[in-house]
Amino acid sequence: MTTKSAPATSEPLKDLEEEPPSCPVSKHAQEDEEPPGSNLASFDIASFARIPRGTWNDWKWQFRNRITSIDQLARFIPLSDKEKLRLKLVTERYPLSITPYYLSLINPSDPHDPIKKQAVPSFREIALSSMGFEDPLEERKHSVVPGLVHRYPDRLVMVLTDICPMLCRHCTRKREWHDGGWVRSDEEIEAMLNYIRKTKAVRDVIISGGDPLTLSTDRLEGVIARLRQIEHVEIIRIGTRFPVVLPQRIDGELCAMLSKYGPIWLNTHFNHYREITLEAAAACDRLVRAGIVVNNQSVLLRGVNDTVKTQLKLCQGLLKIKVRPYYLFQCDEVQGTEHLRTPVRVGIKIIEGMRGHTSGLAIPTFVVDLPGGGGKIPLQPNYVLSQTEDELVARNYEGKIFTFHNPVLPAPAKLNRQNESAPRQTSYQLAFSL
Ligand code: SF4
Repeated sequence: MTTKSAPATSEPLKDLEEEPPSCPVSKHAQEDEEPPGSNLASFDIASFARIPRGTWNDWKWQFRNRITSIDQLARFIPLSDKEKLRLKLVTERYPLSITPYYLSLINPSDPHDPIKKQAVPSFREIALSSMGFEDPLEERKHSVVPGLVHRYPDRLVMVLTDICPMLCRHCTRKREWHDGGWVRSDEEIEAMLNYIRKTKAVRDVIISGGDPLTLSTDRLEGVIARLRQIEHVEIIRIGTRFPVVLPQRIDGELCAMLSKYGPIWLNTHFNHYREITLEAAAACDRLVRAGIVVNNQSVLLRGVNDTVKTQLKLCQGLLKIKVRPYYLFQCDEVQGTEHLRTPVRVGIKIIEGMRGHTSGLAIPTFVVDLPGGGGKIPLQPNYVLSQTEDELVARNYEGKIFTFHNPVLPAPAKLNRQNESAPRQTSYQLAFSL
């Protein structure tokens, strides 16, 4: 939920000693920290299995070894010289970042792999870049102090960094990627907290980014602990894709810290059932055991999750790992994402294909975030065929028609008007006089 470009006072991530370095496979890391034979440069995806388990499960190792160039990517995924050339042009505008863990989920020989489509750049990002807007939700306009977006009366968004472990090709904030590598300074965070302290209507604070779990656990605790001291802040929410793209980050230390400051709700972003791995399931389990409520907000993406079958498998899989499917977002009108967008009717059809065929718990709310900061609106299939004062005629998920009768008592407003000039009657008398 970044609202503006990195201000001059934001700190580049590389300056923060406790954060993982923002560059991949640094010379220092290769020489001093990697075990022998773990130089990513010599790997293909199959050889990930040779990385010692302890190293593979170290989230800082994963973060340091992100794939950030097309030449690196070409060691893992077959790319022709022409493709490499074109994708290099794409990454000049929209950079690339994939964790080794997420890369290992890709089937490199499948050109239509749904995991690959989310992580690997496409030439269509620049070929169709005249479509859409840089900032379709006008987030910059609603920034009240740097990094704080206050659009709705009782809740707001704190943007702590613009860094994500993986750069999702469908990201609404891909306009920010060029400013990559900063976290908000202590002074900026204090200014955000001061605004929240003064604004008593705010009862729900969403900590977002970029991905806020990019920050060290200590630094994150510094923010959450101060938020918790504000009496009118009832709920703290964290928006993060770490459980999906780098689940090793959700470690015991992080969960123990979060468990001290409940109620905390964590919204994550699974888009495909193949992302529900043992590692992701374990990460969500650790969160739930720490008292964190985990919801999922997926984005409807062409060729990734735009069928009923895929959504059913995704949402039923999420319930099995105790994650509630919360929102299914229509992909925003963002420049560089046109090739991944679907018509709105696809989302409505998907919900229609799910409703009745699986538990309501497994059905997310399909929403469109209206351009220009209009906010989210839910979209549903139309089940109502006609409606009068007396009855509702509707169809069910099988297409069968049913009539539902309204109560015979007049609506409350009508009752009140009737009663204005008449002597008061008890509801018992009223019921028997009808
Ligand atoms: S995790 Fe979210 S903010 Fe980060 S790149 Fe992906 S969609 Fe964008």
